[in-house]
Amino acid sequence: MRTEIEKLFQETIRQIQSVKTSSDLQALYFSVLGRKGKFAQLLSRLPNLPPGERAGLGTLANQTRNKLQQAFDQAKLKFKPQAADSADFDPTWPGILPEVGHTHPISAFIESAIKFFSGLGYEVAEGPEVEYSRYNFDLLNIPPNHPSRDLWDTYYLKNSGPQMLLRTQTSPVQIRYMEKHRPPVFIIAPGRTYRHEATDAGHETTFTQIEALAIDKNLKLTDLLGTLSAFFQHFFGNVKIRFRPHYYPFVEPGLDLDMACLLCHGKGCPVCKYSGWLEMLGAGMVHPKVLKNMKVAPNRYSGFAFGIGVERLVMLLYGITDIRLFLAGDLRFLEQFT
Ligand SMILES: [Zn+2]
Repeated sequence: MRTEIEKLFQETIRQIQSVKTSSDLQALYFSVLGRKGKFAQLLSRLPNLPPGERAGLGTLANQTRNKLQQAFDQAKLKFKPQAADSADFDPTWPGILPEVGHTHPISAFIESAIKFFSGLGYEVAEGPEVEYSRYNFDLLNIPPNHPSRDLWDTYYLKNSGPQMLLRTQTSPVQIRYMEKHRPPVFIIAPGRTYRHEATDAGHETTFTQIEALAIDKNLKLTDLLGTLSAFFQHFFGNVKIRFRPHYYPFVEPGLDLDMACLLCHGKGCPVCKYSGWLEMLGAGMVHPKVLKNMKVAPNRYSGFAFGIGVERLVMLLYGITDIRLFLAGDLRFLEQFT
């Protein structure tokens, strides 16, 4: 087989050199490298060979095919027409495929989340990534000296007049949206957010959130739990989740949602720190003070909100172990999500 491949190579090179016209060259190309050409016929016998003989033949075949392709490309230049309307111009000659891009895994997840929430009647709202501290903190019930501001350390803009920063969460979109809308309100706000972080496999300075806000008459904690359960079931199937009370200044009561660790199925492993659970997101009933800041009467309306950390979910969905890969621009990583 090895000799046959080499023989076909030598013979084809000789023929390429003696070809006189573009159409002869094309005929030769199809008879050798075409779908049913000599080369393909030779390779179709490969699987029937005993394993000992097969070793290395695949590589040799690939190299030979590449060399032949190059030789044909070179020879083609000889017949290159002077003008596009020349009689030798052949539009049927195989072209060079342009590289086509595809959606980034984070954008793809956002798109499917938007689809899911649209099904529940939510609309998409957007806001700026450079935000006033008033929207990012104060109106969300996090006053300037509140210790929880430390959790959301971010990048501040110098000389910006009223204090400006890169938003630490997509929650300010809630406040901006409510400046122009009245309940009932059901929105999600997907977008980029920033933190002043030392980066490692689990932390990035730039990441993505989807904030959800619902305000209506008689919205209850059970509505929040039901919405979150439906979301996790949609993306992770029949996975176990649990809710734990947790303090966030902009909700009351506040809670965290944990999902049973997908890697060890609750038995305990290094990723879940042997607890069997992974902390997935924070949520809660909108704090009455925040409702008042939105000019909504807390005695007439209630609401819930939650913030989804998109990178975390996508990492779990695909078994990605380093968050920094998302923004590293490494095609070896990105091309796995075509
Ligand atoms: Zn685990």
